[in-house]
Amino acid sequence: KVWAGARESEWSAGDDFWEMGLLSSNDWKAEWISTPTQDDLTKACPVPMFRKAFTAEQKMVSARIYATSLGIYELKLNGAAVTDALFTPGWTTYGKRLQYQTYDVMDLLNEGDNVIGATVGDGWYRGHLAGWADPNRNNYGKELALLLQLEIKFEDGSSETIVSDSSWKNATGPIRAADFYMGETYDARRERAGWDAPGYDDSEWGEVKILNQSKEILIAQVAPPVKKNFEIEPIEILTTPEGDTVVDMGQNMVGWIKFTVRGQAGQTVVLRHAEVLDKAGNFYTINLKGAEQKVSYTFAEDGEITFEPHFTFQGFRYFTIEGLDYTPKLDDFVGKVIFSEMELTGSFTCSDPLINQLQQNIQWGQRGNFLDVPTDCPQRQERLGWSGDAQVFAPTAAFNMDVASFFTKWMGDLAADQREDGAVPHIVPFLDVLGEGGFGSAAWADAATVIPWTIYQYYGDTRMLETQYESMQDWVEFMHKEAGGTALYTTGFHYGDWLAYATDNSDYPGATTDKDIISSAYFACSTHLLAQAAEVLGKTADAKRYFQLLEKIKVAFDHEFISENGRVGSNTQTAYALALAFDLVPAAKEAQAAERYVRDIRTFGHITTGFVGTPLVCLVLSKYGYHDDAYNLLNRKEYPSWLYPVTKGATTIWERWDGIRPDGSFNTKSSFSDNEDEEVMNSFNHYAYGAIGDWMYKFIAGIDFAEGGAGFKKICIKPVLGGGLTHAAATHESMYGTIS
Ligand code: BGC
Repeated sequence: KVWAGARESEWSAGDDFWEMGLLSSNDWKAEWISTPTQDDLTKACPVPMFRKAFTAEQKMVSARIYATSLGIYELKLNGAAVTDALFTPGWTTYGKRLQYQTYDVMDLLNEGDNVIGATVGDGWYRGHLAGWADPNRNNYGKELALLLQLEIKFEDGSSETIVSDSSWKNATGPIRAADFYMGETYDARRERAGWDAPGYDDSEWGEVKILNQSKEILIAQVAPPVKKNFEIEPIEILTTPEGDTVVDMGQNMVGWIKFTVRGQAGQTVVLRHAEVLDKAGNFYTINLKGAEQKVSYTFAEDGEITFEPHFTFQGFRYFTIEGLDYTPKLDDFVGKVIFSEMELTGSFTCSDPLINQLQQNIQWGQRGNFLDVPTDCPQRQERLGWSGDAQVFAPTAAFNMDVASFFTKWMGDLAADQREDGAVPHIVPFLDVLGEGGFGSAAWADAATVIPWTIYQYYGDTRMLETQYESMQDWVEFMHKEAGGTALYTTGFHYGDWLAYATDNSDYPGATTDKDIISSAYFACSTHLLAQAAEVLGKTADAKRYFQLLEKIKVAFDHEFISENGRVGSNTQTAYALALAFDLVPAAKEAQAAERYVRDIRTFGHITTGFVGTPLVCLVLSKYGYHDDAYNLLNRKEYPSWLYPVTKGATTIWERWDGIRPDGSFNTKSSFSDNEDEEVMNSFNHYAYGAIGDWMYKFIAGIDFAEGGAGFKKICIKPVLGGGLTHAAATHESMYGTIS
């Protein structure tokens, strides 16, 4: 029976139970254990193994392991895996928040001799992160470590606690190097057969070192675990013009390949991974920007082996295989698709196969990039929690999958990483790699307000508004202070309408939107969301104050950026979309502004927007009844459009509208430089432009919230017919049941 305020539940029908985690550092009897000698910090080193043998003499009734690490751990008990979760304890703001996991290990324990074995890889803690930076390793610390506590209760009421301490043993084994970007090097000749089970002689193993490390920052697991959620099979083995043997998975995926190969003792097999083949059909890795994505296996004996890596993942559709003396077969390979275990809550299909493929690409983009944190891309030397990308995609993400607890964890990190003055970092968990430009960019930092509000809207749960309220407020107050008396946020570094439409035509170099408009519009947006959050939480004084501030911003925005005849600033689609989406245009000029907006879209016949404008383009057209224009944008098949990549065979969402140009060449231009050879930023798995999904669910399928219907408690079903579609169907598993 539970009580919640005045409400009381019925008695439960059967024997249910709950238990508490370890609530404070006093509950942790374990000590942090590490390796006795310092590794070479310039590169990935052999992965340390930790071993503990113990006996449990009596009949047991319960057993729990609580575990975490600096680095990412794998845990074995008597030779069996303790969990199928990967990359535990996950990625958080390690200096302030470190998750631990709890496992029921009753079924794995023996009455008698037992052994715990743990391996700890570099992961996010010590491996490569932000490959462009120097240094780009050891971002959180230099030493890997394990903290583990096993609590056993016996039938006679007694208990025993086995903890990580100086009695544990340490060695290295077959994983010679492991890194998210670089891959894994495995030498089977170094395997220590039976090391994680009783009966193994560990007298040669070394001591461990006790590390003085905080236990104050430990928190229980919040987010869904990362898992191998399903498998896909390759579709073709081909030989490229350059002579590489390449396997095509038929899908740009994230995870790794499980492979079965034959070889002789000492022979090494190497898999390298890439997203695309170039125009000539050759294996293309330049856009990985130094992330090697290489998995190598060295045979201990002659024969056949099956292998999959441990502490790495790759973003790829193709892989090459080298080092075999025969031609492999398709069924020697299986793709393990790895992402945070989120329930699929959305489906969308219609009569246009290209739009259906777009929907598939959006969902694959989400799978590939919701890997413990929402990342920009899963392949090159980034794979970071870019806040702008996450913010624009959040509504679509919430339609597609249950992302409530996934974002709960990440928003906790965002708040933890927020600067003293309220500025929000562009990368969460924060990495100090962007210098001065690391905080406060409009549309990136606004993840602080947009995501809590999105989660509240889609799940109807006020908890994230409660826990993030201070963070939301700090961010708005930061902009407020920067604005001074102007009520316009125009200071600091901003990414602007990142990757907006650009041309080589000096007459029209591109759709560049004034950054002051973007930052001031987002100042209004965040203030509005904060005011609404205050209202929902019953903070009436705050609500009043922030609605008043919003009015001031609107007046200032109008004076500064909107002409008498409804022209908004830079006269770009993004400028209009922001002003109209965030209700910044005074009623008297609204119709004119909307007309100018749609005129621009008709003149171009396509979108000219980047990361900031794109999520809003069709939503704003529909807001003013221009549904046909929204459909035209969606239906367009030439560059730039959502379907252009689909016509080029895309199986995920691209970072750039022209990642592959109509002539088959790659767009390798950097936003920071005109030199095509200098920077090559061209990801083929970047979910940001997939934000159109929200419009597809809300307007094509017509599933939307009714007034006051947070969490779809009240729904409005209002499909907009058009675009030449003859049917469309969608479902969403809401908190109140299936909507279809
Ligand atoms: C990332 C983006 C990110 C951006 C900042 C890029 O390198 O891949 O998706 O938001 O930097 O503008």
